[in-house]
Amino acid sequence: MLGLYVHVPFCSSICNYCNFNRGLFDAALKARYVDALLREIRQAGLKACTAFGDGEWAGVWQAGPTRTDAVRTLRSAQADTIFFGGGTPSLLEPAEIEQIIAACLESFNVAADCEVTLEANPETVTEQRLLAFRAAGVNRISFGVQSFRDDELRRLSRLHGSARARDAYEEARRAGFDNISLDLMMWLPAQRLDDWLESIDVAIALGPDHLSLYLLEVYANAPLKDEMARSQWSQAPDEDAADMYLAAMERLDAAAYHQYEISNVARPGRESRHNLKYWSDGEWLGFGCGAHSTRDGIRWKNVSATEDYVDHIVRGEPVAIDLRRLSAGERLGDALFTGLRLTAGVSLDVVRQRYDVEVWQRYGADLEPFIENGCLGRDGERLWLTRRGMLLANEVMAVFV
Ligand code: SF4
Repeated sequence: MLGLYVHVPFCSSICNYCNFNRGLFDAALKARYVDALLREIRQAGLKACTAFGDGEWAGVWQAGPTRTDAVRTLRSAQADTIFFGGGTPSLLEPAEIEQIIAACLESFNVAADCEVTLEANPETVTEQRLLAFRAAGVNRISFGVQSFRDDELRRLSRLHGSARARDAYEEARRAGFDNISLDLMMWLPAQRLDDWLESIDVAIALGPDHLSLYLLEVYANAPLKDEMARSQWSQAPDEDAADMYLAAMERLDAAAYHQYEISNVARPGRESRHNLKYWSDGEWLGFGCGAHSTRDGIRWKNVSATEDYVDHIVRGEPVAIDLRRLSAGERLGDALFTGLRLTAGVSLDVVRQRYDVEVWQRYGADLEPFIENGCLGRDGERLWLTRRGMLLANEVMAVFV
């Protein structure tokens, strides 16, 4: 089943650490962008229809389908997730979200129990808006909380405070959402272990269905870097970052959350179905500026700049760039690299069936030291990173690159 990703590149203000594809909210541009998204999704539905079954998807993509082809092939591609990511997708109006979901339903064979996620910033929602998003078809909300401490949120130049984040969560529950995820960030400027665990404890007390824990990366050109130097805010030493990760995971274990990926924990059955496609060798189509897609062993990316994307769509030009067929080696490397992010690890049997490769024969000599030092586990047909190994994931995964 495909995952459908919809990128919404607008934000109310630009956070000082942000490296995503986003820009300041502009109502006129947003209206044109939503129109462009609807057109791109509908066209992709036709392409997916025509390609279904023949595997020659790249050719279809480049040449463009004809309506006759689409009508002749009545089966359409199946999808079971829609994910609105950004940017700040919750800046769209519920009616716009509803139109985009409707375009997906028209264009693809969408499963009745489709997971429909909306990333939301706490300051952009009210109970009324959340009710309207739910009525529009959203059934999972992912709040960009980042921290439950006001001092940390101010250092990150976030627009919301801790109280707004808690209120947004309660509003979402009252609006009927039974699948809520919270994003938190660790290793923040001036944050120490106890500060970080305070956010974890608040999150556990709220009881979301899913939590994502990210490590802050301070990019060389991020305004935050200068602010940190000016204000003498330092990040904790590397070994403390490791302690932050391990201590948080231990508390989440004790609170009956199940870690299923390096950075993600969930209540049973509440794992992100959409994100699992990225880690389990799945396929997805991305819509909107800068969105990435992978299907039938072909990978491509849309043009990045918002205006540029809209102009391409208006002129009827393809927005896909960097379209290329992945080599067998790249596909195998990706499957192992992303699969090891999951606590369930990689099934060597599945890899053998899909890629005709004996993983242990090919990589065993390089992987053996990681088994010996407790970073990697191996049990017959399964290979996985231990929690200690997750701290050194890049070193282990370098074996496959
Ligand atoms: S809200 Fe998110 S996407 Fe927007 S600027 Fe801040 S970090 Fe970046």
